[in-house]
Amino acid sequence: MNKNLRQAIIAGNWKMNKTRPEAKALVEELIPLVKDADCGVVVCVPFTNLETVLNAVKGTNIKVGAQNCHFEKSGAFTGEISADMLVEMGVEYVVLGHSERRQYFGETDETVNKRTVAALAAGLKPIVCVGELLWERETNITEEVIARQIKLDFYGVSADDLKKCVIAYEPVWAIGTGKTATADQAQEVCAFIRATLAKLYGQAVADAVTIQYGGSMNAKNAAELLSKPDVDGGLIGGASLKAPDFSEIVKAAK
Ligand code: PEP
Repeated sequence: MNKNLRQAIIAGNWKMNKTRPEAKALVEELIPLVKDADCGVVVCVPFTNLETVLNAVKGTNIKVGAQNCHFEKSGAFTGEISADMLVEMGVEYVVLGHSERRQYFGETDETVNKRTVAALAAGLKPIVCVGELLWERETNITEEVIARQIKLDFYGVSADDLKKCVIAYEPVWAIGTGKTATADQAQEVCAFIRATLAKLYGQAVADAVTIQYGGSMNAKNAAELLSKPDVDGGLIGGASLKAPDFSEIVKAAK
């Protein structure tokens, strides 16, 4: 398995944190710390911070993402934001199907699929999250759950478009809990995701897709997780809110 076939990407998911002044301060602290990064660096920020952060990162190696988008282009969808609106601002990435959206906002594989297709059509790079619940792992159906999510979330996505996507393997039991999957557990599922993609799209396409691990990744455990052959980066929640911690994870992604 050749990691050089794809880009390592460390993405921060700020979730519902930071006012605009706080966002500006965080990203300004981060810029010098990650300027020599050997990997892609992305910050996925609340909608209200997009413009502030886009302005702050101009001319730097930091890319900006949103944390969701709607699947319709426009219309009567009060409270929603379309992919075109994000692209017009200069946003490059969008997190889709995060487990918090699946858990608290009724997101399903069908809506994740619709959002993924819409985001790609608009020119965004989706970071699509998949992952099993604790009881699904305990009942030994992790692979079934992941295969189902991959097949449904990417239904109708072409091979060319798949290469623009990032997949984040985020075991739900590890998100925000301080419980990290072991490096071997992360590798096992990331390799399974790649094998599933290979069945659907062929090995060359599967080898080109960046697959991240997410779930309580931090400055201490990042290097071991990222050393695994199928773990190409990380989606980082809590630890992305402190510039020194996030930059240590970026440094671990060589
Ligand atoms: C996440 O929000 O995607 C995440 C992985 O959170 P945390 O790092 O806090 O577990």
